[in-house]
Amino acid sequence: MPTITPVLGDITQQEVDAVVNAANNGMRGGGGVDGAIHRAGGPAVLDDCVQRFPDGLATGDAGWTTAGDLPARWVIHTVGPSFRAGERDRGLLESCYRRALEVADELGARTVAFPLISAGSYGWPRRDAALTAAYTVAGTRTDVTDVRLVAFDDDTLTDLRGATIQQTPLRILQAVRVLHRRGQQHARVMASIAPTGMHLRIQVSAQGSDTPTVKYTTGSETSFLDTEVTAATSPAEVADLLENAEPALTRRVSDPDYARWYDGMLSTVERNRALPVARGEHFDSRPGWQIGDERYPHPPEPA
Ligand code: ADP
Repeated sequence: MPTITPVLGDITQQEVDAVVNAANNGMRGGGGVDGAIHRAGGPAVLDDCVQRFPDGLATGDAGWTTAGDLPARWVIHTVGPSFRAGERDRGLLESCYRRALEVADELGARTVAFPLISAGSYGWPRRDAALTAAYTVAGTRTDVTDVRLVAFDDDTLTDLRGATIQQTPLRILQAVRVLHRRGQQHARVMASIAPTGMHLRIQVSAQGSDTPTVKYTTGSETSFLDTEVTAATSPAEVADLLENAEPALTRRVSDPDYARWYDGMLSTVERNRALPVARGEHFDSRPGWQIGDERYPHPPEPA
């Protein structure tokens, strides 16, 4: 899984194997990123577009051309959905990142820079575009080792940083699913807003044992158990960390009801791109956990 690094800059100046273009269906150039790439890359990019894409490119798909005069070797073109024109299926936006990484793998590109696809003239809400970028890249199997998410302005950089930092608590939550699949279904999670109201606190404990819980707060960003945990860390590696930190978690205990509940809860997190909160009085008083805009039922009692 790739390292994800948000940076402030111009996509045309990135020294990477491939830069991604936020193109349009016509594939003959345009405004924004597209215009900048064609200007800086020179006519070779357009010539190659005409050759390789006689009929243009479908929304959500990706393909490559030479990068012409750019420092990168290739341009990977992808067409984001136009939110402004009513294309609001997030699956299409996810597909842009996935297909671009697939094309990068075909090319053997190891370092890839993305602009925030669809967040310019296509009008996709910026924060959601940033979350989609980070969650999709973090969830895609690829041989690309470094993904740069390039922000053209400070507000976009802030959103990209926030979305990238969420990958650490996400990996911890996914690690507990790994423990369950290893047969350690007494591994339980509590997620609550810290008293300051600023940070989410995640506690992992072994149900039925009086050993202390393993704690993480989003205030410590990518640091968990003295280890750097990022999108590039696999859930299995984080599961190993948890087992080392708390031997009670290595016991084999069957609790299929909880494991099923947890699976559904985590799928909701992954779908909504929002961390879960079990408590917090500023959320509504209906029973359950808050996950983005959704209410998810409370976990079952221990078996
Ligand atoms: P789309 O049509 O997919 O919305 P745009 O090119 O209009 O694509 O914008 C996508 C994002 O890229 C926006 O956040 C915009 O601010 C940003 N952007 C525009 N020019 C550049 C550039 N040269 N380098 C990096 N990002 C850029």
